[in-house]
Formats: sequence, structure tokens, C-alpha cells
Amino acid sequence: MDVETIYLDHSATTAVEPSVIEAMIPYLKGNYGNPSSVHLLGQRAHHAVEESRRTVAAILGCRPREIVFTSCGTESDNLAIRGIVAASDLPRRHLITTPVEHKAVLETMTQLATSPEIDLTVVPVDRYGQVRAADVAAALRPETVLVSVMYANNEVGTRQPIAEIGALLANHPAAFHVDAVQAGGYLPLNVETLGVDAMALSGHKFHAPKGVGVLYLRGGTAYRSPMTGASQERNRRAGTLNVAFIVAIGAALAMVQSERETKNTRLRHLRDRLIQGVLAGVPGAALTGHPTDRLPGHASFVMGEGLEADGMLLSLDMAGIAASSGSACTSGEARTSHVLDAMGYPPLLGLSALRLTLGDDNSEDEIVRAIEQIPIVIGRLRAPA
Ligand code: PLP
Repeated sequence: MDVETIYLDHSATTAVEPSVIEAMIPYLKGNYGNPSSVHLLGQRAHHAVEESRRTVAAILGCRPREIVFTSCGTESDNLAIRGIVAASDLPRRHLITTPVEHKAVLETMTQLATSPEIDLTVVPVDRYGQVRAADVAAALRPETVLVSVMYANNEVGTRQPIAEIGALLANHPAAFHVDAVQAGGYLPLNVETLGVDAMALSGHKFHAPKGVGVLYLRGGTAYRSPMTGASQERNRRAGTLNVAFIVAIGAALAMVQSERETKNTRLRHLRDRLIQGVLAGVPGAALTGHPTDRLPGHASFVMGEGLEADGMLLSLDMAGIAASSGSACTSGEARTSHVLDAMGYPPLLGLSALRLTLGDDNSEDEIVRAIEQIPIVIGRLRAPA
């Protein structure tokens, strides 16, 4: 990456940490065995996988056998949702989610709900994108088999009251799935405290490579794998294990979680400085998402009607700032964000979404430069041609 680029897109992905690369290398170079093989090379790979499983389990406060390694957050979400729904033998099944979930959850739920035996309730969120635990509990029915609520939102950074929802669901047979993909590097992940039955993590959001994920699946949760194949991962996820990447996700999660509180304090300081700088420097800009109950490094805005994400992102990129809109744009076609829609933003304002997400590698000086540059870039875009 250009040394001058200020990377403010850590919610999209993060750089792989050098110590994580070091940990992976032996399993790419010499110890290339298949962990299912009985010979020495296979057994070395098996031990590395089990070591990583124990590391992840210790952080989540669960048993190692409750950890399933997958290829990404999207796969973890899909396995949890489809696997739990498929395991139920109820003639009618009811699912609950929120309108601000990542597409990995929302599209999966919506597709399942095209079946006449499956009903879906989408519980509304407030203007900060937060769902009320009591509203989730009120939506429960005797035939509810799954509730899925994300830990923290990828577009606006808002945290959801997971532990509160977990406590309300404790006496209901429905399984509670949490997409914790954005939370993995920043929030406590103890599954007992949170009261969750299934949880998705993705390595590339916390300094492991792209292409590896974790699914926590509480023992005793009814689950029928939607993948058919061999019996890896105790029949919960077929396919040869990606040993080096599994080693990497364990090493990365241990690293980010051990330094979590110190790093979060620094990130919150930088984030608040950035938010204040953008709001002060760009007339009409407004913060989106919860003002305080949000991810420590997450700043998100609507910049004002008439501005459009693609143009802003290209101009910011030329000014040396890598940012994101948070909403999906396909081949230059502007699309409003389903998250901002659900929070009640008018479509034209939603098109002006800007997401700036910080990470440990951002310096104070970079934030100062971003605060100087962003108003200049937006000012130019607003000026009549
Ligand atoms: N869930 C959330 C909240 C995300 O932010 C993302 C990715 O941005 C995903 C799921 C998908 O994760 P992956 O990129 O590992 O498939």
C-alpha cells in the first residue's frame, strides 16, 4: 500500500499481522499434512488445528468441541441458520431477525422464508439502528426455532443488546444466533455471558487472512449440516480443513482479544476526534448509528443530500484516504443502504453514507490529516462545476 494512504476501512478488512503470518508459515511449507491423515504429517496438522480450537474456545468460554472452523463469516452465518432450521421437525417454523443484519443473515433468512412452512418476523430498529430486547421477546412464538441478531452493525457500528436478548431467550426453546463478525476484534465474546447458542466470526476482520471463519455451536443445539460430504468437524462442516488459516485465526483472535481494552481506549479517542472533526468541518454532515453504544473504531455519517458515495470515495481515494460507504454499490450503480432505510433515513440522504473505520495501525497524525482533507474533498464535490 502507498505509504501516504490513510486506511480508514478496517470494517471491510484488515492487514494480516506479521506474527500471524509467522504462525501460519510452518503449515504452508513443511507441515502440509491433511489433519484427517493418520501419518505423522497429518497428525502434526491435526494437533495445530486442535491447539487453535482450544485457543478460540478459551476466548469464547466454551468447550473446544463446540468450535467449528469455516471459510468465512458468510459461511458461518449460513451454516448456523440453515443447519438449525433444517434440524427442526416442527411442521411450521418461525424465525426472528432484524432489518439491519448483514446480507449473509438477511438473504439467508429471506430465502428460507419463501418456503410455505417458514415464517419470518423482522423486528424493527430505532433511529440508531438498535433493536429493543423486549421487542425481540414479544415476537417469540411457540414455534420460533431461531432468533438471529448481530452483535455490532457493519455500516453504522451500533451494538445490539445481545446479553439482554440472550437472557430473555433463556427459557424459550429457540436457538439464539449472533453474527459477531464486526465484534470479533473489539468486544467480549464469552458465550455464557452473552447467552448465545451460535456465533459467527470472520478472521480477516481481525488480522487473520481472508477465507477463514469460526462458528460456535453450543453442544445440544439441534443442527443438521446443510453441507454434505465427509465427516470433518464432527459432521457439522464437510471439507478438508484449511490448517494454516485455522492456525492464523486462533493466533489473531488471541492477539486482538488480549489487548482489547487498551486498544479500544485508544481507538475510541481517535474515533471521537475524527467524528468531531468531520462534523465541524463538513456543514450538513451527521453521525449515523448510536452516539456511544457503538464499535470503538467506527465512525459513520450521512454527508448530505446531493452527495453520492461513489464520487466521495473516489475523490477521497485520490486525496489518500481509503474509506467506504458501508452500503453496497454494484458497477457504479448507486443503491441505498437497507440499514439506513430501516433506521428511517430518506433514500437521497442514505446515498451520501460515508464510513470511516479505524484500526490499531492508524496514528493520531493520520486522523489529523483526515480531518483536514475530508472537508476539502467534500467542499470540492459540492462546489458548482
Ligand atoms: N457479517 C457481517 C456483520 C459483516 O460485516 C461481514 C463482512 O463484512 C460478514 C458477515 C461476512 O463475512 P465474510 O466477509 O467473512 O464472509
